[in-house]
Amino acid sequence: MKPQYDVIILGGGLAGLTLSIQLKREKPDISILVLEKRPGDAPLAAFKVGESTVELGSYYLRHVIGIKDYLEEHELPKIGLRFFFKSKTKGDISSRVELGARGKLPTPSHQLDRGTLENHLTKVTRSLGTEVILGAIVKDVDFGSEAHTVKYKLDGEEKTATARWVADAASRASLLKRKLGFQKPIDHAASAVWWRLKGVIDIDQWSDNLEWRNQLEPKLRYLSTVHFLDNGYWVWVIPLGTGNTSIGIVTDPAIHPMETYNSYEKAMNWLSINEPLAYEKLSAETPNLMDFMILKHYAHHSGRLYSAEDRWGVTGEAGAFLDPFYSPGTDLISLCNTLLSDLILRDLRQEDIDLRAKVYEQSFLSLIDNWIPIYQSKYPLMGTTQIMPIKICWDWAIYWAVTSLLFTNKAFTDINMLRKLFATENGAGVKFGKLSGIMQNLFLEWMPYDTEIFTNKYLDPLELNFMREFQAGIEVKHEPGELLEKIEDNMRKLEQVAVAIFQKVSTQVKGTPADMKVDPYKITLKDGVDVTENGITPDQSIKDDVSMFWFYKEEYAN
Ligand SMILES: Cc1cc2nc3c(=O)[nH]c(=O)nc-3n(C[C@H](O)[C@H](O)[C@H](O)COP(=O)(O)OP(=O)(O)OC[C@H]3O[C@@H](n4cnc5c(N)ncnc54)[C@H](O)[C@@H]3O)c2cc1C
Repeated sequence: MKPQYDVIILGGGLAGLTLSIQLKREKPDISILVLEKRPGDAPLAAFKVGESTVELGSYYLRHVIGIKDYLEEHELPKIGLRFFFKSKTKGDISSRVELGARGKLPTPSHQLDRGTLENHLTKVTRSLGTEVILGAIVKDVDFGSEAHTVKYKLDGEEKTATARWVADAASRASLLKRKLGFQKPIDHAASAVWWRLKGVIDIDQWSDNLEWRNQLEPKLRYLSTVHFLDNGYWVWVIPLGTGNTSIGIVTDPAIHPMETYNSYEKAMNWLSINEPLAYEKLSAETPNLMDFMILKHYAHHSGRLYSAEDRWGVTGEAGAFLDPFYSPGTDLISLCNTLLSDLILRDLRQEDIDLRAKVYEQSFLSLIDNWIPIYQSKYPLMGTTQIMPIKICWDWAIYWAVTSLLFTNKAFTDINMLRKLFATENGAGVKFGKLSGIMQNLFLEWMPYDTEIFTNKYLDPLELNFMREFQAGIEVKHEPGELLEKIEDNMRKLEQVAVAIFQKVSTQVKGTPADMKVDPYKITLKDGVDVTENGITPDQSIKDDVSMFWFYKEEYAN
Protein backbone atom coordinates (compact mmCIF):
# COMPACT_ATOMS: atom_id res chain seq x y z
CA MET A 1 0.00 0.00 0.00
CA LYS A 2 1.43 3.40 -0.94
CA PRO A 3 1.14 5.70 2.07
CA GLN A 4 -0.60 9.08 1.75
CA TYR A 5 2.23 10.93 3.53
CA ASP A 6 5.93 10.48 4.11
CA VAL A 7 5.48 11.43 7.77
CA ILE A 8 2.59 11.90 10.18
CA ILE A 9 3.47 13.92 13.28
CA LEU A 10 1.28 13.24 16.33
CA GLY A 11 0.94 16.54 18.20
CA GLY A 12 1.53 20.04 16.86
CA GLY A 13 3.26 21.66 19.84
CA LEU A 14 6.81 23.00 19.88
CA ALA A 15 8.46 19.67 19.07
CA GLY A 16 6.00 18.58 16.37
CA LEU A 17 5.86 21.89 14.53
CA THR A 18 9.63 22.42 14.56
CA LEU A 19 10.19 18.84 13.40
CA SER A 20 7.93 19.45 10.40
CA ILE A 21 9.70 22.73 9.57
CA GLN A 22 13.15 21.16 9.91
CA LEU A 23 12.15 18.34 7.54
CA LYS A 24 10.62 20.73 5.00
CA ARG A 25 13.63 23.06 5.03
CA GLU A 26 15.83 20.08 4.16
CA LYS A 27 13.44 18.49 1.66
CA PRO A 28 10.72 20.85 0.39
CA ASP A 29 8.81 18.08 -1.43
CA ILE A 30 8.42 15.85 1.63
CA SER A 31 4.72 15.29 2.48
CA ILE A 32 3.80 15.72 6.15
CA LEU A 33 0.58 15.70 8.13
CA VAL A 34 0.49 17.25 11.62
CA LEU A 35 -2.41 16.19 13.85
CA GLU A 36 -2.98 18.55 16.79
CA LYS A 37 -5.63 18.09 19.46
CA ARG A 38 -6.13 21.81 20.19
CA PRO A 39 -9.12 22.94 18.13
CA GLY A 40 -8.09 26.53 17.38
CA ASP A 41 -5.40 29.17 17.87
CA ALA A 42 -3.34 28.89 21.05
CA PRO A 43 -4.18 31.46 23.74
CA LEU A 44 -1.52 34.04 24.53
CA ALA A 45 0.56 33.86 27.75
CA ALA A 46 -1.61 31.41 29.76
CA PHE A 47 -0.77 28.40 27.62
CA LYS A 48 2.24 26.11 28.16
CA VAL A 49 5.46 26.17 30.14
CA GLY A 50 8.76 26.22 28.31
CA GLU A 51 9.07 29.98 28.08
CA SER A 52 12.78 30.40 28.64
CA THR A 53 15.31 29.19 26.10
CA VAL A 54 19.04 28.74 26.47
CA GLU A 55 21.78 28.82 23.89
CA LEU A 56 21.42 25.45 22.15
CA GLY A 57 17.64 25.66 21.75
CA SER A 58 17.85 29.32 20.71
CA TYR A 59 20.40 28.46 18.02
CA TYR A 60 18.06 25.74 16.77
CA LEU A 61 15.04 28.06 16.58
CA ARG A 62 17.00 30.95 15.06
CA HIS A 63 19.13 29.11 12.51
CA VAL A 64 17.86 25.56 11.94
CA ILE A 65 14.15 26.45 12.04
CA GLY A 66 14.93 29.88 10.60
CA ILE A 67 12.72 32.07 12.82
CA LYS A 68 15.46 34.48 13.96
CA ASP A 69 13.58 37.53 12.59
CA TYR A 70 10.31 36.48 14.23
CA LEU A 71 12.06 35.93 17.58
CA GLU A 72 13.78 39.30 17.42
CA GLU A 73 10.58 41.12 16.49
CA HIS A 74 7.90 39.35 18.55
CA GLU A 75 9.56 37.60 21.49
CA LEU A 76 11.90 39.04 24.12
CA PRO A 77 15.69 38.93 24.05
CA LYS A 78 17.00 37.24 27.17
CA ILE A 79 19.85 38.31 29.45
CA GLY A 80 20.60 34.76 30.53
CA LEU A 81 19.57 32.95 33.69
CA ARG A 82 19.81 34.97 36.93
CA PHE A 83 19.93 33.51 40.43
CA PHE A 84 19.31 35.00 43.88
CA PHE A 85 20.54 32.72 46.65
CA LYS A 86 19.45 31.93 50.20
CA SER A 87 19.59 34.81 52.61
CA LYS A 88 18.65 35.50 56.22
CA THR A 89 17.00 38.73 55.10
CA LYS A 90 14.93 37.68 52.10
CA GLY A 91 12.79 40.81 52.50
CA ASP A 92 15.80 42.66 51.04
CA ILE A 93 16.57 41.39 47.55
CA SER A 94 19.56 43.72 47.26
CA SER A 95 21.51 41.84 49.95
CA ARG A 96 21.17 38.38 48.37
CA VAL A 97 24.09 36.88 46.46
CA GLU A 98 23.17 37.49 42.81
CA LEU A 99 24.55 35.51 39.87
CA GLY A 100 23.83 36.70 36.34
CA ALA A 101 25.37 38.55 33.41
CA ARG A 102 25.82 42.31 33.69
CA GLY A 103 25.07 42.76 30.01
CA LYS A 104 24.02 41.06 26.82
CA LEU A 105 25.64 37.65 26.36
CA PRO A 106 27.65 37.10 23.15
CA THR A 107 25.47 34.10 22.11
CA PRO A 108 21.79 35.09 22.25
CA SER A 109 18.72 33.43 23.75
CA HIS A 110 15.04 34.38 24.09
CA GLN A 111 12.04 34.41 26.39
CA LEU A 112 9.03 32.90 24.63
CA ASP A 113 5.32 33.46 24.91
CA ARG A 114 4.38 29.90 23.92
CA GLY A 115 0.98 30.95 22.56
CA THR A 116 2.39 33.53 20.15
CA LEU A 117 5.23 31.20 19.21
CA GLU A 118 3.10 28.14 18.45
CA ASN A 119 0.61 30.23 16.43
CA HIS A 120 3.55 31.54 14.40
CA LEU A 121 5.07 28.07 13.97
CA THR A 122 1.70 26.73 12.77
CA LYS A 123 1.60 29.49 10.16
CA VAL A 124 5.16 28.75 9.01
CA THR A 125 4.42 25.01 8.90
CA ARG A 126 1.40 25.57 6.66
CA SER A 127 3.23 28.08 4.47
CA LEU A 128 5.79 25.36 3.69
CA GLY A 129 3.02 23.12 2.36
CA THR A 130 2.50 20.88 5.40
CA GLU A 131 -1.06 19.97 6.29
CA VAL A 132 -1.91 20.81 9.91
CA ILE A 133 -5.27 19.59 11.22
CA LEU A 134 -6.37 21.27 14.44
CA GLY A 135 -8.91 19.52 16.66
CA ALA A 136 -7.56 16.10 15.59
CA ILE A 137 -7.23 13.75 18.57
CA VAL A 138 -4.93 10.81 17.81
CA LYS A 139 -6.32 7.54 19.16
CA ASP A 140 -3.99 4.83 17.90
CA VAL A 141 -1.33 3.81 15.40
CA ASP A 142 -1.30 0.51 13.49
CA PHE A 143 2.16 -0.32 12.21
CA GLY A 144 2.39 -1.79 8.70
CA SER A 145 5.32 -3.00 6.60
CA GLU A 146 4.80 -0.33 3.88
CA ALA A 147 2.56 2.18 5.65
CA HIS A 148 1.43 2.96 9.19
CA THR A 149 -2.21 3.86 9.82
CA VAL A 150 -2.95 6.64 12.28
CA LYS A 151 -6.47 6.68 13.72
CA TYR A 152 -7.78 10.00 14.95
CA LYS A 153 -11.01 11.72 15.84
CA LEU A 154 -12.05 15.00 14.23
CA ASP A 155 -15.36 16.73 15.07
CA GLY A 156 -16.60 13.48 16.62
CA GLU A 157 -15.82 11.43 13.49
CA GLU A 158 -13.30 8.54 13.33
CA LYS A 159 -10.68 9.17 10.61
CA THR A 160 -7.50 7.51 9.40
CA ALA A 161 -4.40 8.61 7.54
CA THR A 162 -1.37 6.61 6.40
CA ALA A 163 2.33 7.40 6.31
CA ARG A 164 5.72 5.74 5.90
CA TRP A 165 6.94 7.32 9.18
CA VAL A 166 5.17 8.24 12.42
CA ALA A 167 6.69 10.73 14.88
CA ASP A 168 5.19 11.02 18.35
CA ALA A 169 5.38 14.66 19.50
CA ALA A 170 2.26 14.51 21.69
CA SER A 171 4.22 15.18 24.88
CA ARG A 172 2.99 13.55 28.10
CA ALA A 173 0.21 11.73 26.25
CA SER A 174 3.20 9.45 25.42
CA LEU A 175 1.27 7.71 22.66
CA LEU A 176 4.05 5.46 21.34
CA LYS A 177 5.73 4.99 24.69
CA ARG A 178 2.51 3.57 26.10
CA LYS A 179 1.61 1.55 23.01
CA LEU A 180 5.05 -0.04 22.67
CA GLY A 181 5.83 -0.11 26.40
CA PHE A 182 9.16 1.71 26.55
CA GLN A 183 8.48 3.86 29.63
CA LYS A 184 11.57 4.01 31.84
CA PRO A 185 11.51 5.07 35.50
CA ILE A 186 13.67 7.96 36.67
CA ASP A 187 14.69 8.66 40.24
CA HIS A 188 13.98 12.40 40.38
CA ALA A 189 10.71 13.37 42.03
CA ALA A 190 10.62 17.17 41.73
CA SER A 191 7.23 18.85 41.14
CA ALA A 192 6.05 22.28 40.01
CA VAL A 193 3.20 24.76 39.89
CA TRP A 194 3.07 27.88 37.74
CA TRP A 195 0.78 30.73 36.91
CA ARG A 196 0.69 33.70 34.58
CA LEU A 197 -0.02 37.31 35.56
CA LYS A 198 -1.28 40.04 33.25
CA GLY A 199 1.32 42.78 33.03
CA VAL A 200 5.02 43.28 33.60
CA ILE A 201 6.86 42.35 36.82
CA ASP A 202 10.24 44.07 36.96
CA ILE A 203 12.24 42.92 39.97
CA ASP A 204 14.36 46.10 39.83
CA GLN A 205 11.30 47.69 41.44
CA TRP A 206 11.48 45.25 44.36
CA SER A 207 14.12 47.32 46.14
CA ASP A 208 14.60 51.03 46.90
CA ASN A 209 18.34 50.47 47.11
CA LEU A 210 19.53 52.64 44.21
CA GLU A 211 23.08 51.35 44.37
CA TRP A 212 21.75 47.81 43.78
CA ARG A 213 19.37 48.93 41.04
CA ASN A 214 22.10 50.89 39.27
CA GLN A 215 24.50 47.95 39.25
CA LEU A 216 22.82 47.02 35.99
CA GLU A 217 21.21 48.91 33.12
CA PRO A 218 17.44 49.20 33.56
CA LYS A 219 15.52 46.18 32.20
CA LEU A 220 18.51 43.81 32.27
CA ARG A 221 17.23 42.00 35.35
CA TYR A 222 13.72 42.09 33.89
CA LEU A 223 14.91 40.35 30.71
CA SER A 224 16.59 37.51 32.60
CA THR A 225 14.97 34.26 33.70
CA VAL A 226 15.02 35.01 37.41
CA HIS A 227 15.42 32.23 39.99
CA PHE A 228 15.05 32.64 43.77
CA LEU A 229 16.65 29.69 45.58
CA ASP A 230 16.71 28.11 49.00
CA ASN A 231 16.85 24.62 50.45
CA GLY A 232 14.83 22.27 48.22
CA TYR A 233 13.23 24.81 45.91
CA TRP A 234 13.47 27.56 43.32
CA VAL A 235 10.93 30.12 42.19
CA TRP A 236 10.96 31.51 38.65
CA VAL A 237 9.94 34.88 37.20
CA ILE A 238 9.93 34.99 33.38
CA PRO A 239 8.86 38.01 31.27
CA LEU A 240 6.78 37.26 28.18
CA GLY A 241 6.77 39.15 24.89
CA THR A 242 3.04 39.79 25.18
CA GLY A 243 3.76 42.00 28.21
CA ASN A 244 2.74 39.37 30.77
CA THR A 245 4.72 37.39 33.35
CA SER A 246 5.15 33.73 34.17
CA ILE A 247 5.77 32.67 37.79
CA GLY A 248 6.59 29.16 39.00
CA ILE A 249 7.51 27.23 42.12
CA VAL A 250 9.59 24.05 41.73
CA THR A 251 10.45 21.84 44.69
CA ASP A 252 11.86 18.58 45.87
CA PRO A 253 8.74 17.17 47.56
CA ALA A 254 10.83 15.48 50.25
CA ILE A 255 11.64 19.01 51.49
CA HIS A 256 8.58 20.98 50.34
CA PRO A 257 5.64 18.59 49.81
CA MET A 258 3.43 19.53 46.90
CA GLU A 259 0.37 19.64 49.15
CA THR A 260 1.86 22.81 50.68
CA TYR A 261 1.57 24.81 47.43
CA ASN A 262 -0.73 23.01 44.98
CA SER A 263 -3.44 25.68 44.74
CA TYR A 264 -3.09 29.42 44.15
CA GLU A 265 -4.03 30.20 47.77
CA LYS A 266 -1.60 27.61 49.12
CA ALA A 267 1.14 28.82 46.75
CA MET A 268 0.71 32.35 48.10
CA ASN A 269 0.89 31.04 51.64
CA TRP A 270 4.01 29.02 50.73
CA LEU A 271 5.60 32.17 49.27
CA SER A 272 4.75 34.18 52.39
CA ILE A 273 6.83 31.68 54.41
CA ASN A 274 9.68 30.98 51.97
CA GLU A 275 9.94 34.08 49.79
CA PRO A 276 8.23 36.90 51.72
CA LEU A 277 9.26 39.67 49.32
CA ALA A 278 7.94 37.76 46.31
CA TYR A 279 4.76 37.14 48.31
CA GLU A 280 4.35 40.85 49.05
CA LYS A 281 4.83 41.83 45.39
CA LEU A 282 2.98 38.95 43.75
CA SER A 283 -0.03 38.73 46.05
CA ALA A 284 -0.76 42.34 45.11
CA GLU A 285 -1.12 41.06 41.52
CA THR A 286 -3.88 38.54 42.35
CA PRO A 287 -6.49 40.47 40.31
CA ASN A 288 -4.22 39.90 37.26
CA LEU A 289 -4.10 36.12 37.65
CA MET A 290 -4.58 34.37 34.28
CA ASP A 291 -4.18 30.67 35.14
CA PHE A 292 -2.73 28.23 37.67
CA MET A 293 -1.18 24.88 36.66
CA ILE A 294 0.18 21.91 38.60
CA LEU A 295 2.56 19.13 37.54
CA LYS A 296 3.62 16.43 39.98
CA HIS A 297 6.83 14.47 39.32
CA TYR A 298 7.51 15.99 35.92
CA ALA A 299 10.72 14.03 35.17
CA HIS A 300 10.41 11.00 32.92
CA HIS A 301 12.81 8.89 30.90
CA SER A 302 12.45 6.76 27.81
CA GLY A 303 13.73 3.29 26.95
CA ARG A 304 13.60 3.92 23.19
CA LEU A 305 13.62 6.90 20.79
CA TYR A 306 13.90 5.71 17.18
CA SER A 307 13.16 2.53 15.25
CA ALA A 308 14.66 2.16 11.76
CA GLU A 309 12.94 -1.17 11.27
CA ASP A 310 9.44 0.05 12.13
CA ARG A 311 9.98 3.67 11.02
CA TRP A 312 8.91 5.60 14.08
CA GLY A 313 10.46 8.12 16.45
CA VAL A 314 9.58 10.17 19.50
CA THR A 315 10.54 13.75 20.21
CA GLY A 316 10.03 16.48 22.82
CA GLU A 317 8.31 15.52 26.04
CA ALA A 318 6.99 12.35 24.42
CA GLY A 319 10.58 11.14 24.96
CA ALA A 320 12.49 12.25 28.07
CA PHE A 321 12.32 15.33 30.27
CA LEU A 322 14.51 15.92 33.30
CA ASP A 323 14.22 19.27 35.04
CA PRO A 324 13.51 22.88 34.07
CA PHE A 325 16.18 24.44 36.36
CA TYR A 326 18.43 25.43 33.41
CA SER A 327 15.55 25.71 30.87
CA PRO A 328 16.72 22.74 28.77
CA GLY A 329 13.37 21.59 27.29
CA THR A 330 13.92 23.29 23.94
CA ASP A 331 17.47 21.90 23.85
CA LEU A 332 16.14 18.36 24.13
CA ILE A 333 13.63 19.05 21.37
CA SER A 334 16.41 20.46 19.16
CA LEU A 335 18.61 17.41 19.65
CA CYS A 336 15.84 14.88 19.31
CA ASN A 337 14.37 16.52 16.18
CA THR A 338 17.78 16.83 14.57
CA LEU A 339 18.50 13.11 14.97
CA LEU A 340 15.00 12.04 13.94
CA SER A 341 14.79 14.27 10.87
CA ASP A 342 18.21 13.05 9.74
CA LEU A 343 17.01 9.42 10.00
CA ILE A 344 13.76 10.13 8.14
CA LEU A 345 15.50 12.01 5.33
CA ARG A 346 18.14 9.31 4.87
CA ASP A 347 15.45 6.63 4.82
CA LEU A 348 13.52 8.55 2.16
CA ARG A 349 16.77 8.66 0.13
CA GLN A 350 16.74 4.86 0.55
CA GLU A 351 19.86 4.73 2.67
CA ASP A 352 20.20 1.88 5.15
CA ILE A 353 19.68 3.64 8.49
CA ASP A 354 19.71 0.63 10.77
CA LEU A 355 23.09 1.18 12.42
CA ARG A 356 22.71 4.94 12.43
CA ALA A 357 19.35 4.75 14.26
CA LYS A 358 20.94 2.57 16.96
CA VAL A 359 23.92 4.92 17.35
CA TYR A 360 21.66 8.01 17.55
CA GLU A 361 19.36 6.39 20.08
CA GLN A 362 22.29 5.24 22.24
CA SER A 363 24.05 8.63 22.04
CA PHE A 364 20.93 10.55 23.00
CA LEU A 365 19.98 8.21 25.82
CA SER A 366 23.57 8.33 27.20
CA LEU A 367 23.47 12.11 27.01
CA ILE A 368 20.27 12.06 29.09
CA ASP A 369 21.86 9.61 31.54
CA ASN A 370 24.84 11.95 31.91
CA TRP A 371 22.48 14.90 32.37
CA ILE A 372 20.40 13.30 35.19
CA PRO A 373 22.99 13.73 38.00
CA ILE A 374 23.05 17.48 37.34
CA TYR A 375 19.61 17.61 39.01
CA GLN A 376 19.17 14.35 40.90
CA SER A 377 19.54 14.78 44.71
CA LYS A 378 20.71 18.34 44.10
CA TYR A 379 17.70 20.31 45.42
CA PRO A 380 19.16 20.36 48.98
CA LEU A 381 22.18 22.21 47.50
CA MET A 382 19.88 25.09 46.55
CA GLY A 383 20.12 26.32 50.13
CA THR A 384 23.89 26.84 49.91
CA THR A 385 25.49 30.14 48.92
CA GLN A 386 28.98 28.90 48.00
CA ILE A 387 28.42 25.50 46.40
CA MET A 388 25.44 26.50 44.33
CA PRO A 389 27.01 29.47 42.47
CA ILE A 390 30.05 27.30 41.69
CA LYS A 391 27.86 24.39 40.60
CA ILE A 392 25.82 26.65 38.30
CA CYS A 393 29.00 28.05 36.81
CA TRP A 394 30.37 24.54 36.26
CA ASP A 395 27.09 23.31 34.73
CA TRP A 396 27.06 26.28 32.35
CA ALA A 397 30.71 25.72 31.45
CA ILE A 398 30.27 22.10 30.40
CA TYR A 399 27.06 22.91 28.53
CA TRP A 400 28.62 25.77 26.58
CA ALA A 401 32.04 24.17 25.99
CA VAL A 402 30.90 20.76 24.80
CA THR A 403 27.15 20.05 24.35
CA SER A 404 26.21 23.33 22.64
CA LEU A 405 29.34 23.46 20.50
CA LEU A 406 28.80 19.90 19.28
CA PHE A 407 25.23 20.77 18.36
CA THR A 408 25.94 23.96 16.42
CA ASN A 409 28.65 22.06 14.52
CA LYS A 410 26.27 19.22 13.58
CA ALA A 411 28.39 16.65 15.40
CA PHE A 412 25.42 14.66 16.74
CA THR A 413 24.65 13.42 13.21
CA ASP A 414 28.30 12.82 12.26
CA ILE A 415 28.94 9.12 12.88
CA ASN A 416 32.73 9.50 12.55
CA MET A 417 32.72 12.26 15.11
CA LEU A 418 30.47 10.29 17.47
CA ARG A 419 32.84 7.34 17.16
CA LYS A 420 35.86 9.50 18.00
CA LEU A 421 34.04 11.04 20.96
CA PHE A 422 32.47 7.94 22.45
CA ALA A 423 34.00 4.71 21.11
CA THR A 424 36.99 4.53 23.47
CA GLU A 425 37.57 5.27 27.15
CA ASN A 426 39.86 8.11 26.12
CA GLY A 427 37.32 9.72 23.80
CA ALA A 428 36.52 13.32 24.75
CA GLY A 429 32.80 12.46 24.98
CA VAL A 430 33.38 9.60 27.42
CA LYS A 431 35.72 11.77 29.52
CA PHE A 432 33.12 14.53 29.46
CA GLY A 433 30.47 12.21 30.96
CA LYS A 434 32.93 10.98 33.61
CA LEU A 435 34.12 14.42 34.65
CA SER A 436 30.59 15.76 34.82
CA GLY A 437 29.53 12.90 37.14
CA ILE A 438 32.63 13.31 39.33
CA MET A 439 31.93 17.01 39.85
CA GLN A 440 28.26 16.41 40.70
CA ASN A 441 29.41 13.94 43.38
CA LEU A 442 31.90 16.47 44.70
CA PHE A 443 29.13 19.07 45.16
CA LEU A 444 27.20 16.58 47.31
CA GLU A 445 30.27 15.54 49.33
CA TRP A 446 31.05 19.19 49.97
CA MET A 447 27.55 20.06 51.25
CA PRO A 448 28.05 19.36 54.99
CA TYR A 449 30.98 21.82 55.00
CA ASP A 450 29.30 24.77 53.28
CA THR A 451 27.53 26.16 56.30
CA GLU A 452 28.07 29.93 56.00
CA ILE A 453 25.36 32.09 54.41
CA PHE A 454 27.06 34.73 52.28
CA THR A 455 25.35 37.99 51.31
CA ASN A 456 26.00 41.19 49.34
CA LYS A 457 27.90 39.71 46.42
CA TYR A 458 27.43 40.06 42.68
CA LEU A 459 28.77 37.36 40.38
CA ASP A 460 28.96 37.80 36.63
CA PRO A 461 29.88 34.53 34.87
CA LEU A 462 31.20 36.45 31.88
CA GLU A 463 33.88 38.08 34.03
CA LEU A 464 35.55 34.67 34.08
CA ASN A 465 37.75 34.38 31.00
CA PHE A 466 37.06 30.72 30.36
CA MET A 467 33.30 31.21 30.74
CA ARG A 468 33.23 34.16 28.35
CA GLU A 469 35.32 32.22 25.85
CA PHE A 470 33.03 29.15 26.05
CA GLN A 471 29.82 31.20 25.71
CA ALA A 472 31.16 33.32 22.84
CA GLY A 473 32.45 30.19 21.08
CA ILE A 474 29.13 28.35 20.88
CA GLU A 475 28.22 29.41 17.35
CA VAL A 476 31.75 29.33 15.91
CA LYS A 477 31.95 26.84 13.05
CA HIS A 478 34.83 24.34 12.87
CA GLU A 479 35.81 21.79 10.24
CA PRO A 480 35.28 18.22 11.63
CA GLY A 481 39.01 17.70 12.42
CA GLU A 482 39.28 21.12 14.02
CA LEU A 483 36.06 20.54 15.98
CA LEU A 484 37.49 17.47 17.66
CA GLU A 485 40.63 19.45 18.56
CA LYS A 486 38.48 22.27 19.90
CA ILE A 487 36.39 19.90 22.03
CA GLU A 488 39.57 18.23 23.34
CA ASP A 489 41.02 21.65 24.08
CA ASN A 490 37.84 22.66 25.93
CA MET A 491 37.96 19.39 27.87
CA ARG A 492 41.53 20.19 28.97
CA LYS A 493 40.30 23.57 30.20
CA LEU A 494 37.34 21.96 32.00
CA GLU A 495 39.73 19.49 33.66
CA GLN A 496 41.74 22.47 34.93
CA VAL A 497 38.59 24.22 36.13
CA ALA A 498 37.57 21.04 37.98
CA VAL A 499 41.00 20.87 39.63
CA ALA A 500 40.96 24.58 40.53
CA ILE A 501 37.55 24.15 42.19
CA PHE A 502 38.66 20.99 43.98
CA GLN A 503 41.87 22.57 45.26
CA LYS A 504 39.80 25.23 47.03
CA VAL A 505 37.22 22.80 48.38
CA SER A 506 39.83 20.32 49.59
CA THR A 507 41.81 23.11 51.26
CA GLN A 508 38.66 24.28 53.04
CA VAL A 509 37.52 20.81 54.06
CA LYS A 510 40.76 18.90 54.59
CA GLY A 511 43.41 21.60 54.88
CA THR A 512 45.34 20.27 51.85
CA PRO A 513 47.88 22.61 50.21
CA ALA A 514 46.27 25.21 47.96
CA ASP A 515 48.52 24.25 45.04
CA MET A 516 48.16 20.46 45.38
CA LYS A 517 48.37 18.65 42.04
CA VAL A 518 45.14 16.75 41.32
CA ASP A 519 44.00 14.14 38.82
CA PRO A 520 40.60 15.53 37.70
CA TYR A 521 39.25 12.01 37.21
CA LYS A 522 40.03 11.07 40.83
CA ILE A 523 38.40 14.09 42.43
CA THR A 524 36.66 13.18 45.70
CA LEU A 525 36.67 14.25 49.33
CA LYS A 526 36.53 10.62 50.44
CA ASP A 527 39.40 9.46 52.62
CA GLY A 528 41.81 6.90 51.29
CA VAL A 529 41.85 8.06 47.66
CA ASP A 530 45.15 9.42 46.38
CA VAL A 531 43.89 12.26 44.21
CA THR A 532 47.41 13.51 43.48
CA GLU A 533 48.76 10.61 41.39
CA ASN A 534 49.11 11.86 37.77
CA GLY A 535 47.82 15.20 39.04
CA ILE A 536 47.81 18.47 37.10
CA THR A 537 48.03 22.10 38.14
CA PRO A 538 45.62 24.59 36.55
CA ASP A 539 46.89 27.64 34.65
CA GLN A 540 47.04 30.72 36.84
CA SER A 541 44.31 32.44 34.80
CA ILE A 542 41.88 29.59 35.52
CA LYS A 543 42.78 29.67 39.21
CA ASP A 544 42.18 33.43 39.21
CA ASP A 545 38.82 32.96 37.48
CA VAL A 546 37.67 30.36 40.03
CA SER A 547 38.85 32.62 42.87
CA MET A 548 36.35 35.24 41.73
CA PHE A 549 33.53 32.86 42.68
CA TRP A 550 35.14 31.79 45.98
CA PHE A 551 33.74 33.47 49.14
CA TYR A 552 35.44 31.72 52.04
CA LYS A 553 38.51 33.56 53.28
CA GLU A 554 41.74 31.88 52.19
CA GLU A 555 43.19 32.01 55.74
CA TYR A 556 39.94 30.43 56.98
CA ALA A 557 40.51 27.78 54.37
CA ASN A 558 43.91 26.90 55.76
C1 LIG B 1 7.63 23.06 35.15
C2 LIG B 1 8.24 23.06 33.80
C3 LIG B 1 8.93 24.19 33.35
C4 LIG B 1 9.52 24.19 32.09
N1 LIG B 1 10.25 25.28 31.70
C5 LIG B 1 10.90 25.22 30.53
C6 LIG B 1 11.69 26.33 30.11
O1 LIG B 1 11.78 27.35 30.78
N2 LIG B 1 12.32 26.22 28.91
C7 LIG B 1 12.22 25.12 28.12
O2 LIG B 1 12.83 25.08 27.05
N3 LIG B 1 11.46 24.08 28.49
C8 LIG B 1 10.82 24.11 29.66
N4 LIG B 1 10.04 23.06 30.02
C9 LIG B 1 9.87 21.96 29.08
C10 LIG B 1 8.89 22.34 28.01
O3 LIG B 1 7.64 22.58 28.59
C11 LIG B 1 8.80 21.23 27.02
O4 LIG B 1 10.08 20.91 26.58
C12 LIG B 1 8.02 21.55 25.79
O5 LIG B 1 6.84 22.22 26.06
C13 LIG B 1 7.71 20.25 25.13
O6 LIG B 1 7.18 20.48 23.88
P1 LIG B 1 6.40 19.32 23.17
O7 LIG B 1 6.11 19.79 21.81
O8 LIG B 1 7.05 18.04 23.39
O9 LIG B 1 5.05 19.27 24.00
P2 LIG B 1 3.83 20.26 23.89
O10 LIG B 1 4.27 21.62 23.57
O11 LIG B 1 3.01 20.01 25.09
O12 LIG B 1 3.08 19.71 22.60
C14 LIG B 1 2.41 18.49 22.57
C15 LIG B 1 1.18 18.69 21.72
O13 LIG B 1 0.56 17.45 21.51
C16 LIG B 1 -0.84 17.65 21.53
N5 LIG B 1 -1.47 16.37 21.84
C17 LIG B 1 -1.46 15.68 23.00
N6 LIG B 1 -2.15 14.54 22.88
C18 LIG B 1 -2.58 14.49 21.61
C19 LIG B 1 -3.35 13.56 20.86
N7 LIG B 1 -3.82 12.44 21.41
N8 LIG B 1 -3.63 13.85 19.58
C20 LIG B 1 -3.19 14.98 18.99
N9 LIG B 1 -2.46 15.89 19.64
C21 LIG B 1 -2.16 15.65 20.93
C22 LIG B 1 -1.05 18.72 22.59
O14 LIG B 1 -2.27 19.41 22.38
C23 LIG B 1 0.16 19.59 22.39
O15 LIG B 1 -0.07 20.73 21.59
C24 LIG B 1 9.42 23.04 31.27
C25 LIG B 1 8.72 21.92 31.70
C26 LIG B 1 8.14 21.92 32.97
C27 LIG B 1 7.41 20.70 33.42
